[in-house]
Amino acid sequence: MQGYIINITRVKDEDLIVVILTHDSIKTLYRFYGARHSTIHLGYKIDFESLASLKSTIPQLRSVLHLGTPWNIHRERMLAWQAFIRLFYLHLKDIALIDTFYFDLLESCADIWHKQNPKRIAIEAYSKLLRFEGRLHDDLICFNCEEPIKEDLTLIRAFLPAHKHCAWNQTFERLHVKTLFEEHSTIAFDDEEVESLWKIMLEGF
Ligand SMILES: [Zn+2]
Repeated sequence: MQGYIINITRVKDEDLIVVILTHDSIKTLYRFYGARHSTIHLGYKIDFESLASLKSTIPQLRSVLHLGTPWNIHRERMLAWQAFIRLFYLHLKDIALIDTFYFDLLESCADIWHKQNPKRIAIEAYSKLLRFEGRLHDDLICFNCEEPIKEDLTLIRAFLPAHKHCAWNQTFERLHVKTLFEEHSTIAFDDEEVESLWKIMLEGF
């Protein structure tokens, strides 16, 4: 089985509880300490086996093989990936079975993560996720006063649109936000705006 490690919790000295996002599920597995285990990190894509265990109530993580990509060793890209993938954990941790959309989305991001500003890739993917979940407010109606936003558009958590005077956040060009929401592209935003969008996204899916 293959999946992405979306959370690691250390328990009892060196044992780990590892949460993995697979093709169609979120798996919580236990890894007992062992010197011969391969090193695992948050964000790694791994091939693994899940084994029912007598020693713990949750299944054991076994036969781990890291399916590495070249950008795994690039610190900045890896840190951005870990911040991004952690959002999936916070968003999906209480769900056992998931749509293949999430795994496929991570796959498509991982494929191009080394090719451009990863924060752009993440923001574009996030807009697709919001679309998939029916939470993308592309009508650009203010979440606060429920009036259409003609100018001074700002975005808050979950990319909810608002008037600047309703939410007091940084403003974005209305047309640029429309491009992001409709075409899932950040091309209209400069790097500074991408940084702002990234920070809004990190507040949580
Ligand atoms: Zn408003």
